[in-house]
Amino acid sequence: MAEKYDYDLFVIGAGSGGVRAARRAAGHGRSVAVAEDDLPGGTCVNRGCIPKKLLFYGAEYGERLACAGEFGWNLEAPPKFAWRHLRDGKDREVARLNGVYRRLLKEAGVALLTGRARLLDAHTVIVAERRFRARAILVAVGGRPWVPRDLPGREHVSTSDDLFRLQQLPRRALIVGGGYIAVELAGILHGLGVATILLYRGELFLRGFDPEIRAFLAQRMRARGMELRFRAEVAAVERRGDELRLRLADGDTLAADMVLYATGRRPNTAGMGLAEAGVRLDANGAVAVDEEFRSSAPSVYAIGDVIGRMALTPVALAEAEALIDRLYGGGRRPPLDYDCIPTAVFGQPNLATVGLTEPEARQRRPDAETHRSVFTPLQNALSARREPAMIKVIAEAGGGRVLGAHMVGPDAAEIMQGVAVALKAGIDKAGFDATVGIHPTLAEEFVSL
Ligand code: NDP
Repeated sequence: MAEKYDYDLFVIGAGSGGVRAARRAAGHGRSVAVAEDDLPGGTCVNRGCIPKKLLFYGAEYGERLACAGEFGWNLEAPPKFAWRHLRDGKDREVARLNGVYRRLLKEAGVALLTGRARLLDAHTVIVAERRFRARAILVAVGGRPWVPRDLPGREHVSTSDDLFRLQQLPRRALIVGGGYIAVELAGILHGLGVATILLYRGELFLRGFDPEIRAFLAQRMRARGMELRFRAEVAAVERRGDELRLRLADGDTLAADMVLYATGRRPNTAGMGLAEAGVRLDANGAVAVDEEFRSSAPSVYAIGDVIGRMALTPVALAEAEALIDRLYGGGRRPPLDYDCIPTAVFGQPNLATVGLTEPEARQRRPDAETHRSVFTPLQNALSARREPAMIKVIAEAGGGRVLGAHMVGPDAAEIMQGVAVALKAGIDKAGFDATVGIHPTLAEEFVSL
């Protein structure tokens, strides 16, 4: 006799990937439940993209106000910034989105169960002491900030999760790390008036991005007054009364009100019964999956940050769609193509990129040509700092295929999305050149390099 299941698909985690998968599976006529032990929306809505971007806009207003005088605005009294106002506005928007996620699940006929889920075996999940049997289980539990375990004084440091809840902004902040989060939070805190120092252990932050574009961003951040310290190894964090002290390996000591660690994130897989259900994890605790997102337990799948590939919301969404369409859509679907995924670091200014870095492109095509432009966009032309932007395109020699595009400057992320469409479609440099620009914009530089 065929086994009875409560659900066709049981999703663990109501973040971007989990919710998209659940709704799509329901759309294919499947019975679906999602378990979540926090507010729906996951990292992106609650502790990531959305609240971060709102704070980013807050910081950007500061920069704009500083330049407003050059455009004729006489802001008589110096403008004042109220952290709680911005934080509460951000919380209201996050709460609205939590409601949207709940509504979308309900409208799709997906059951939302509240509580921490644990696997009892490869078809059984327990949530709030209730057992559910499912034909397939999808693990989409995301990740969490990670702080080095051996850091003396680890208990004194904050992470990005804490920043969003602050009662008041610190006066001085030290940010440790040199990835997306460190760079973005340095821009936000500095922009909101916090004396901020970013400390990174290597030669130059944002390892993995195009070297020239990283160096340009570092230069621009310093020109805005942010302090960046590279080759900085932290030895310990200590508390002295209200103050935190960060001791560096070279003997230097820095004082601050907040030490924020942004040294990466790790999958949320501990204590979920995964190993017991036959699901293999890699050394970082990520669920190991094949190209069809199947784990070592054939009925258990995983997508999103928990598989440790590209921790980006749109990637989790794409993985969700690829998985569900393959499982329930009928017919074969090619594996998800991870090539040409654009990405942005919402620093001050923005950095955005798609495709290969210059060294990667040269490794593949030693004769690759680099086209670059450094210039002051019109929107910065009247300000005293005249902040320049950098645009860079790497293409096969002789007007051939565009291999990578990189940019630092205002709205870089908005601009790069369109460029990514062209790269994904396999455009060559001649195609860029044949495109007529929109004048006067920063983006037109891409077609006039
Ligand atoms: P990242 O992996 O991007 O960066 C981690 C940083 O911490 C690196 O600079 C790394 O240095 C450094 N680091 C790691 N271990 C140590 C250590 N023991 N001591 C000192 N420094 C250390 O992680 P983030 O936390 O910044 O972000 C996590 C992920 O979230 C990102 O990779 C991205 O996928 C996603 N994200 C995306 C955003 C966006 O799309 N805009 C925004 C925020 C996050 P090293 O380079 O030397 O290894």
